[in-house]
Amino acid sequence: MDYFPIFLDIKKRPVLIVGGGEIAARKVVLLLRAQAHITIVAPKLSDGLAALLVQGEIAYRAGDFKDDDLNGCALVVAATDDALVNRAVFDAAEKRNLPVNVVDCPELCRFIFPSIVDRSPVTVAVSTSGTSPVLARLLRAHLETMIPASYGRLATLLATFRDSAKARFPAMKQRRHFWERILQGPATEMVFSGREQDATQLIQNALDHGETDAEKRGEVALIGAGPGDPDLLTFRALRLMQQADVVLYDRLVSKEVLDLVRREADQIYVGKKRDYHAVRQQEINQTLADLAKEGKRVVRLKGGDPFIFGRGGEEIATLAEQGVPFQVVPGITAASGCASYAGIPLTHRDYAQSVRFVTGQLKDGTINLDWCSLAQPQQTIVIYMGLKGLPVICEQLIKHGADDALPVALIQQGTTVHQQVMTATLSTLSGVIKGQEVHAPTLLIIGEVVSLHEKLAWFNPVDSSSRHAFGRDPERL
Ligand code: SAH
Repeated sequence: MDYFPIFLDIKKRPVLIVGGGEIAARKVVLLLRAQAHITIVAPKLSDGLAALLVQGEIAYRAGDFKDDDLNGCALVVAATDDALVNRAVFDAAEKRNLPVNVVDCPELCRFIFPSIVDRSPVTVAVSTSGTSPVLARLLRAHLETMIPASYGRLATLLATFRDSAKARFPAMKQRRHFWERILQGPATEMVFSGREQDATQLIQNALDHGETDAEKRGEVALIGAGPGDPDLLTFRALRLMQQADVVLYDRLVSKEVLDLVRREADQIYVGKKRDYHAVRQQEINQTLADLAKEGKRVVRLKGGDPFIFGRGGEEIATLAEQGVPFQVVPGITAASGCASYAGIPLTHRDYAQSVRFVTGQLKDGTINLDWCSLAQPQQTIVIYMGLKGLPVICEQLIKHGADDALPVALIQQGTTVHQQVMTATLSTLSGVIKGQEVHAPTLLIIGEVVSLHEKLAWFNPVDSSSRHAFGRDPERL
């Protein structure tokens, strides 16, 4: 080991920074986070540092570095662009055995600044011993995506139980077992998803009564899997998918997304085809509740966003009624995903001041939309499940006053490498796609904004041999 990692308490301790430029400023910002008392010595200050001086965040002595500047210091940083000055600071600090860092000069460093993941009070510091700061930064970025934002809140909550846990389990080993159980149980996820009160209660109960049923109870995460491209998942979705014991998914969840689920998890397909329900909704609702009651971490994966034409509300209603804990993780809905990947802004100052998401299919298979309001100008209409009713939709819109030359886009398998965008107008679309193979799922976007597609399209994947991102047969009109 070239450097020994330690965490310094420099709260209110005097730190000297020699240099007043941008590089010095970056170090100042970091050290201020740890509440150091900073004095800068430099002939002049950058604007950013001058602002900090005015705000009273730092102290400043204008002039060149002098040996006396080190009096009483706990830590020294040299960040000037003059190698001789940097060297002088290093030598002077060495004489006094003071920890010193000359920025970007590993051979003149007694300590180095790590890349920091700050989830205070939890802090992760990464160093490559000065060999490659870029590598350290990349590793840090990696960790940032893996460590939930509320990790610090979890640590703070646990700290409030430290004394009572010590009193309850005086032996270190017992105490460690207790905390392991708590941290591997549902309490952590409760904190991460904003249910700190539930977590507090759970830990308190565990301290008062030993292992409780609440700890053994599983929970359900209703997760939006997005429109297909796995990169569009949220951090939280991915984290929960990788902790799942069992996953229930439907046919709008792409293979690539499913591939990211924890390998050991049971996968249950509960897909529904148009006009045909593979597993009835009521059964799905109850299965979710039953699995969670068995103590499993259940993930219910739904295409797009679970609260947009996803019946997510019905599924969690059953859970709420039966007292099963759950959380909902939003996903990117097909309208956002397909529009972005097709280069069609859903709103635009010149063309559309509002956007409407509607379904082209009702529960009983009919379409019963408010055609008059949909035919209004200056808005974009996004139609989910609109393929079957497409001829009727175009016809009715024209009948209710929409321009028959209004541009329309039909987006197939949006955001996946098989995405296809066809554009036409209200009067021509039915003819254009007649007899063609259409690969579900498909989304309709209607409105002037569609004309921007030609100019703004940016997503042009090379279509590979298979056309099925979702593993189904093509549909024919
Ligand atoms: N909850 C989902 C919508 C479910 S309804 C969401 O928020 O996106 C199912 C409809 O969504 C499909 O019939 C289709 O119209 C649309 N859809 C979902 N994913 C799609 C995709 N990748 N490309 C095109 N349309 C999609």
